[in-house]
Amino acid sequence: QLSKRLTNIAQNLPRGAYFADIGSDHAYLPCYVCLNDPSAQAIAGEVNHGPYTSAWKEVKNHGLEGRIDVRLGNGLQVLNDNEVRQVVIAGMGGPLIRDILESGKEKLSETERIIAQPNIDARSIRQWFFQNGYDLVDELILEENGHIYEILVGDRGEPAASYDSSHLEKQLWLGPHLLKKSERVFHTKCKSELEKKEYVLSQVKQATVVNEDKIIQLKQEISWLREVLE
Ligand code: SAM
Repeated sequence: QLSKRLTNIAQNLPRGAYFADIGSDHAYLPCYVCLNDPSAQAIAGEVNHGPYTSAWKEVKNHGLEGRIDVRLGNGLQVLNDNEVRQVVIAGMGGPLIRDILESGKEKLSETERIIAQPNIDARSIRQWFFQNGYDLVDELILEENGHIYEILVGDRGEPAASYDSSHLEKQLWLGPHLLKKSERVFHTKCKSELEKKEYVLSQVKQATVVNEDKIIQLKQEISWLREVLE
């Protein structure tokens, strides 16, 4: 049984996908996609030997060697130029996902869709999409085993299309689609974020050297979170 998180990622790949799953670990995602869609093909990339071996094992168990290639290497370096049409990078921190995209940009000229699932700091992905010609076409938020996950879907296109220039900073931080959809899980996330920010603000105010810029930023973030929760 594939996790709800990976199932939601799979649902955002088109039929007949030819995609790379970077940091694939057990290759559960590419196996699931290829088992459910006979026209799909994938490359599973892994930088570590252990997961690379488990990925091959999983692929062979399903007899999918002809459609899933498992490759050992760092980030997008496992890909040839223009090789895949979609890229998935899931289950890592946002800054690491952004660095993987940034350092392998030249491999993405034929990539129509990037699906990222950052465990923290989704802002760094939104910012990277915005600066690199990907339109953030959708965002999903879900809860599984006590964790809240965000999935960001970017298609090559007009990067500003999903943003409103007067709310850019707020939307880059919290997500333009998540703000619009305003789902229960998003509220749960904002509530816990609000508690954290209020605590940090109280600490920053008590510091011996008062950091005014930090206070202004925290107050701004707290007011954005309150707007969501109103
Ligand atoms: N993508 C899977 C998922 O979402 O369930 C696995 C996530 S697992 C927490 C992260 C995986 O990324 C690990 O197997 C790790 O070895 C791999 N990884 C970390 N940095 C990487 C990099 N620069 N290139 C390729 N794989 C990487």
